Amino acid sequence: MATVNDVCALVEGWFPPQLAESWDAVGLVVGRPQNPVTTIMLTVDVTPDTVAEAIAEGADLIIAHHPLLFGGVTSVAATDFKGRIIHDLIAADIALLVAHTNADCAKPGVSDALADALGVFETEPLEPCVGEALDKFVVFVPQSDAPAVLEAMSQAGAGRVGNYDRCAFESDGRGTFRPQSGASPHIGSVGEIEQVAETRLEMVALRRLRSVVTSALRDAHPYEEPAFDIVELADIPGPLGLGRIGELDQPATLEAFARVVATELPVGQSGVRIAGDLAGTVRRVAVCGGSGDSLLAVASARGADVYVTSDLKHHAVSEHLANGGCAVIDVAHFASEFPWCRATAHRLERAFESGSDTVCVKVSEIVTDPWSQHMRSQS
Ligand SMILES: [Zn+2]
Repeated sequence: MATVNDVCALVEGWFPPQLAESWDAVGLVVGRPQNPVTTIMLTVDVTPDTVAEAIAEGADLIIAHHPLLFGGVTSVAATDFKGRIIHDLIAADIALLVAHTNADCAKPGVSDALADALGVFETEPLEPCVGEALDKFVVFVPQSDAPAVLEAMSQAGAGRVGNYDRCAFESDGRGTFRPQSGASPHIGSVGEIEQVAETRLEMVALRRLRSVVTSALRDAHPYEEPAFDIVELADIPGPLGLGRIGELDQPATLEAFARVVATELPVGQSGVRIAGDLAGTVRRVAVCGGSGDSLLAVASARGADVYVTSDLKHHAVSEHLANGGCAVIDVAHFASEFPWCRATAHRLERAFESGSDTVCVKVSEIVTDPWSQHMRSQS
C-alpha cells in the first residue's frame, strides 16, 4: 500500500523542493510518513471548507498549492482558523503536502497547466530561472600529481556537469617559482629559481561547494602554496522558470481568446478583466499562474500579444499599456492555479494505475476565490 512518504517522494520528484523560493514553506506540513494513502485530494488552498471536504471524501492526504503555514509560527492552538485546520487534519489522520513556488518553477508546473488549459503550445519559460551558481577552479599542479588532484576535487563535488562527473580540462605548461627563506618546497630549494612541468587543471563546481573543493584541492596538492584561481561563472538561463510563453494554434481576436479564458478557467463570479483592443489579433500568449505583475514588461519584451495572469493592480497595468505593452487578461488568482490541481491529479492517476497500489485521486470541488460576487454598474 502506498504511504504518505511514497506520494511525497513522487510529487517532490515532479516539483523538487530545492526549486522553491527561499522565503517559501513547502513540503510535508502535517502527517506521519509511514501512514497509508488510499485517497488524495488536490486543492489550491487549505481552508476550513476544503478540509471538511477532504474529511467527507475520506482523504488521507491533501496536496495543496498555497502554504498553510509560513515561518514564524509559534502556536497551532485551535484559537484561530489555521490552528483549527491543523487540529482537524490530525484528528482525521489526514496528511498535508504543499508544493508552491517549486510547482511554479518546475516543468511541467503551474503555468504549464494554465497554458495547456488555454490552448497555448510550444511553451518556454517567460522568465527562465538561472541555474545554481557555479565556480570555475583553475589549478596549476605538477604533471605527475594532476590525476590525484583531479580525483580529490572530483570526490569533493567538482567536475559534475549534467549526467557526467569527473569533467576536467588539462593543458600542460611550465610553472616557475623561487622558494624564500622559511619555505619547505616540495620541489627545488630555497633561493633557487625552479621550473616545473605543470598541468593547468580546470573544473567547474557549485559555488556552495567552494570551501570543500578548495580544501580537497589543498590536501591533494603537493605544494606548500598551491597556485589556483576561482572564477565566478556568469549565470546561464536554464529550462525552468516562471510563467510560460507560447503560441495558439490559430490566431484569434483578443475578444475570442478572452472567451476561451472565461470558459476554460473556473473564473466564476470574478469573470475576466481585459485591457487592450478586443478586435486586436492574438497568437503569441504569455501566462503566469498566480500573481504575475512582475512579468508584465517581460511578456511584452518577449513578443506576447496578450498576457494572462492574476492580481494585477491599477498602476501596473496602466503604466504597462502607456508604455505600449501587450494586451492583458486578469483572472482570479484561484482560477489561474486551479488547472495545476487537475494536471497533477492526472499525473498521480497515471503514476498509480500501472502499480499494485490502489489510490483514488480527487480534485476539490470548492472554489476558494474569496471574491464570490460581481456586479456591473447599472448606468
Ligand atoms: Zn498562488
